[in-house]
Amino acid sequence: MGFRSSISKPALAVTLAVQPNLLTMLSSKIIPTFLTFLVLILFSTIFYGCPNAKDAPPVEIPTSKPTSNITNDTIPLFDGQAAYSLVEKQLNFGARVPGSKAHTLCRDFLLSELRQLTDTAFLQSFTSEIYGKQIRFSNIIGSYNPKSVKRILLCAHWDSRPRSDQSTNPSDTASPCPAANDGASGVAVLLEIAHKLREKTPTLGIDIVLFDGEDYGYEHDLSNYFIGSRHFAGNLPFSKPMSAVLLDLVGDKDAEFRFEPSSYNSNPTAINKIWDIAARRGCGYFKAEQGNGVSDDHDMLIQASIPSIDIIDVNLVGHVDKNPRRKYWHTIHDTIENISPETLQCVGQCVLEYVYTF
Ligand SMILES: [Zn+2]
Repeated sequence: MGFRSSISKPALAVTLAVQPNLLTMLSSKIIPTFLTFLVLILFSTIFYGCPNAKDAPPVEIPTSKPTSNITNDTIPLFDGQAAYSLVEKQLNFGARVPGSKAHTLCRDFLLSELRQLTDTAFLQSFTSEIYGKQIRFSNIIGSYNPKSVKRILLCAHWDSRPRSDQSTNPSDTASPCPAANDGASGVAVLLEIAHKLREKTPTLGIDIVLFDGEDYGYEHDLSNYFIGSRHFAGNLPFSKPMSAVLLDLVGDKDAEFRFEPSSYNSNPTAINKIWDIAARRGCGYFKAEQGNGVSDDHDMLIQASIPSIDIIDVNLVGHVDKNPRRKYWHTIHDTIENISPETLQCVGQCVLEYVYTF
């Protein structure tokens, strides 16, 4: 995904005065977590007082009381190991770079899965000229209860980044990103959710949408990111969902999911409910506190007035996490070794409960 800071401009200016040696890092629009923390501590009045601080809404900490009287028995058990195998399955095609053979083969696999698992599945395909190349993109869509007016949307991106431009080794930067976490993890969770929805379909309308072309743009060229979700938001194939949940970077062994500010602004009910479910289930990957902001497919949905959230391990973005193993975003090291069935299980189970109790 593209990225941006959760810090307002006045706070940034002050930060620059304090930390001039961080200009290089700031030039890539990345504000490390510790810096955000520093600013929050030192300049909390500026941060919260800034009229432009729409990325920093007041945060309510969710309570841990049950969100409904639906018991855990009513909600199917998500299979984290099955989801892990679905990550492997996608990686076996190779990097799913738009225009590549692996992209076509994986598209056909995902469509055939959704055809088996949903009431109706189809491709939303279109061609765009990007960086002088005509590229065929396809959003892959599967729906339950397609005629229902009350709908929710679950989404992730299935494409791989064409380049590993965050690799420290210059000889790696032209290689495509394997995209185990940055793509395949979210898709795997949604496919496994589809298996559970097939076994016991709620009456609610549910759309699973796998976006193409999320990660196509050169760094900072946000107009060429989110290609599939932008097209989808402008050409909705069904009635507008009441809530959308985007999954991105949801498979790391040491994942940390915090409230993403634009998500919180757009759909605080969904954030509070899902983090509440996680707390009740003892799923510690979900931290009930504000995290950094990020540009991602959910922005395209929010712009189309769809209340949307992004469940994302945002500290992977820009390598702000201090753990050396977790500095693999947009590198050739975004591989299966970083993924754990436990994290996938936790995310899948919480989203599944959100759907069944919506
Ligand atoms: Zn990415």
